[in-house]
Amino acid sequence: MNPLDLFDLRSALTEDEQLVQDSVARLVDARVLPLIQECFEHHRFPKELVPELAALGLLGATLEGYGCAGLSSTAGGLICQELERGDSALRSFVSVQSSLAMFPIWAYGSEAQKQQYLPRMARGELIGCFGLTEPHGGSDPANMKTKARRSGGDWLLSGSKMWITNATIADLCVCWADTEDGIRGFIIEKGTPGFTASEIEHKFSLRASATGALFLDNVRVPESQRLPDAAGLKGPLSCLTQARYGIAWGVIGAAQACLAQLIEYTATRELFGRPLSKNQAIQVRLAEMARGITTAQMLVLQLGKLKDAGKLQPVQVSLAKWHNCRMAIDVARDSRDMLGASGISAEFAPIRHMLNLESVITYEGTETVHQLAVGRELTGHSAY
Ligand SMILES: Cc1cc2nc3c(=O)[nH]c(=O)nc-3n(C[C@H](O)[C@H](O)[C@H](O)COP(=O)(O)OP(=O)(O)OC[C@H]3O[C@@H](n4cnc5c(N)ncnc54)[C@H](O)[C@@H]3O)c2cc1C
Repeated sequence: MNPLDLFDLRSALTEDEQLVQDSVARLVDARVLPLIQECFEHHRFPKELVPELAALGLLGATLEGYGCAGLSSTAGGLICQELERGDSALRSFVSVQSSLAMFPIWAYGSEAQKQQYLPRMARGELIGCFGLTEPHGGSDPANMKTKARRSGGDWLLSGSKMWITNATIADLCVCWADTEDGIRGFIIEKGTPGFTASEIEHKFSLRASATGALFLDNVRVPESQRLPDAAGLKGPLSCLTQARYGIAWGVIGAAQACLAQLIEYTATRELFGRPLSKNQAIQVRLAEMARGITTAQMLVLQLGKLKDAGKLQPVQVSLAKWHNCRMAIDVARDSRDMLGASGISAEFAPIRHMLNLESVITYEGTETVHQLAVGRELTGHSAY
């Protein structure tokens, strides 16, 4: 039995999905794991891997047409899982590129916008970011202070965005702004006068990811750069549903990386004259991790089926994002503890995953916000 797949989920995958999983796993083993510790320690996004991610078809992988691979939702989830087994930063990059930058152009863009951006984004030649969160509070995006007002045939955008993944490495931003007709989405290219990005330093989490702030000072954007079919908050929220689906899969990879390392470590570390793994207390803790990983796996497998059948509801994604992030962060924290002092060293993966997961449990809707979304579904009352 595979200790990381106790219920043999692998047998529920199609041959194509297995091939996708294996090819991403090989990339992570060969290219991500050897450099990720250095990237994390030096707060460096490994941009050199982008062409390799693109060559495997991992950018916009589940989108149809425009040079995208058109894979199943389950295959898209497996991509996230394997990447996050390496590091949440890589999965975050692919999530933002695919679900938060390419998806809105694919779903709400004009034909000209799709032709102009999507093939190049799929090839990794253009990097995207998604500007929704603002400094005054991300959980309440309806209270948007970035404004877009008409100026002749153009728009003028002013405001700021905070905590934006890829901000400083992006060639374009799908930026959300409030207009007199409600929230609208705009594609802003790097170098547009008045549009600047700065990296957020001193992070203890997702240090191998670029995270920045965006500033918009009367940025002139032509009407042709507005996403014509996005109207209201449901535009950005639908993108977040896509990305949260990927997170629910991705964090399983982080938990698997921790459990794999712990199984090996506890088998070889001898204390009180026997390997750690022969202690009941250690076995219970490892079993608890396997229970968490297995239930998370069952959850996302069904989520993928619902998504491919077009039946996915945002509240189901909320529950899965909450459940699986909580599971993964608990696994990472307990793994860190069972490594003793070694657990605080970057030479072992759990503390890196643990710190990364502090972001993952917060971004794209905090744990509390997702709990409240489920509560609203159960009671019919919105508490937020
Ligand atoms: C590394 C990283 C990358 C990110 N990348 C992006 C990105 O690419 N694009 C983007 O737009 N955003 C991004 N974000 C922002 C992220 O989505 C927000 O941080 C998140 O939505 C929470 O917003 P906030 O940080 O402003 O916290 P706040 O909204 O200020 O929340 C603070 C606390 O209050 C709690 N809270 C909020 N409302 C309620 C309520 N009604 N009842 C009870 N408790 C409540 C929250 O759960 C939280 O604990 C990123 C964040 C991080 C850390």
